Amino acid sequence: MTDSRAADFAKTPFWWIAAPRPPIAEAQLPASADVVIVGSGVTGLNAARELARGGRDVVVLDRGEAGIGATSRNAGHIGRVLKHEFTQLVSGLGLAKAIEIYREMQAAYDSVGEVTKGEGIDCEYRVSGRVILAYTPQQLEMVEAECAAKKTHLGEDYTMLDRVGLKVELDSPLFVGGAYLPESASLHPGLYHLGLLAAAQKAGVNVLPGTDVVSIDNIGTVDAPRFVVRTSRGEIAARDVIVATNGYTGPGIPGWFRRRLVPFDAFMIASEELAPETMRAILPGNRVYIDANRNVNFFRQSPDGKRVLYGGRTGGRPPADLSTIGTKLFDDARKILPGLDGRKLGRVWTGRCAGTIDLYPHIGVQDGIHYAAGYCFAGIPMGTYLGRKLAWGMLGRKEGATGFRERAMPGHPIYWGNPWFVPLYMKFYDLLDWRDGGRP
Ligand SMILES: Cc1cc2nc3c(=O)[nH]c(=O)nc-3n(C[C@H](O)[C@H](O)[C@H](O)COP(=O)(O)OP(=O)(O)OC[C@H]3O[C@@H](n4cnc5c(N)ncnc54)[C@H](O)[C@@H]3O)c2cc1C
Repeated sequence: MTDSRAADFAKTPFWWIAAPRPPIAEAQLPASADVVIVGSGVTGLNAARELARGGRDVVVLDRGEAGIGATSRNAGHIGRVLKHEFTQLVSGLGLAKAIEIYREMQAAYDSVGEVTKGEGIDCEYRVSGRVILAYTPQQLEMVEAECAAKKTHLGEDYTMLDRVGLKVELDSPLFVGGAYLPESASLHPGLYHLGLLAAAQKAGVNVLPGTDVVSIDNIGTVDAPRFVVRTSRGEIAARDVIVATNGYTGPGIPGWFRRRLVPFDAFMIASEELAPETMRAILPGNRVYIDANRNVNFFRQSPDGKRVLYGGRTGGRPPADLSTIGTKLFDDARKILPGLDGRKLGRVWTGRCAGTIDLYPHIGVQDGIHYAAGYCFAGIPMGTYLGRKLAWGMLGRKEGATGFRERAMPGHPIYWGNPWFVPLYMKFYDLLDWRDGGRP
């Protein structure tokens, strides 16, 4: 193996090459707005666009550049992914409820295609298919059982692949087999975000990056809220407020949210540019790939087909210098994909997601503040879907209905907003994966 430490790799998301974060312009803060949205990611912008089209005067605030959060840092896999597997929901909640919840996962998946098509967003959206990879026969059995149940009750197609069948998908010695899911997509998250931003601005939304929200106060009543949003650049009066800060929820956002959203760090790398024949040898199937571990490793080709993009070690403590995690991830990637041996690391970056105590995504209203968050790593579809639901609900439209409103976002008696336990929790997952034969 070459020493990736010797490489001069960048420490910003690969996606920002084609989709640099828009510079912050010093636009004036308005004195008031119908709706102030905190967070300019996939959730905030999908809500903003729909609200503006519904006639509302909408301001979106972000403390950094627009889309600086997880929305422009993720892997760009789009699936129907919930932390609770379908078979678990059937056992816990019964078949009818499990089907209802997973039908909404399908609707969330579909929403990304609808928005990219409807808004004409050119973001390399592609129904690429997904391969779930098993390191052991036991993992393969579990993957198959889940796929079979979904096929029976939801009609989701899949094909099981053995070691030989996998060879057309990827060159790896580690997997005993996998499941190919044809209906699964991928996109370029940076371009998706820029497209959402342009669509929101075209609809009349005032997006003001470089504006840190320091407090949100309801000076009306719970039934007739009226807000003052204080920011690093002044105050805005608003009839309604949406919190769309997900993994970046922190000071400035009311404590109720900080005590319910559990932020965790995720890490990704990009290889250096590879020759087309090298890429064809490493990932000939050109799908998105994810292993069957509890703490998953995930990878794909970049949309231009020149780099392998790889993520893993999710929830680990962020090191002082990203080089350390970059080097470790590249070593992991080379164990899974030995064709990367002798190649160099091109980039490493990190981003923040949010989980919830009950591992469900949530949408709702708390003390008059609207919110959607807690996507547990599946935020492109869920943020698109629930962002629009937020807006439609506020506009009084029936399309705002969703089963994800039914559950109140729970807290935990010992969680007060400091996620110190996440790295330990994820280490425990790693240990279970290792015990069960998961690698690398
Ligand atoms: C490495 C990585 C890989 C991932 N891979 C996938 C994937 O393949 N598929 C998938 O579906 N999901 C994936 N995700 C998850 C997905 O990216 C997120 O769930 C989704 O982007 C969340 O969008 P959001 O708009 O809710 O929040 P974000 O995009 O995180 O935006 C929140 C914004 O709020 C702003 N903010 C916070 N506090 C304040 C404040 N006080 N004042 C002003 N602004 C504030 C932040 O600056 C930030 O821009 C991944 C995430 C990461 C980090």
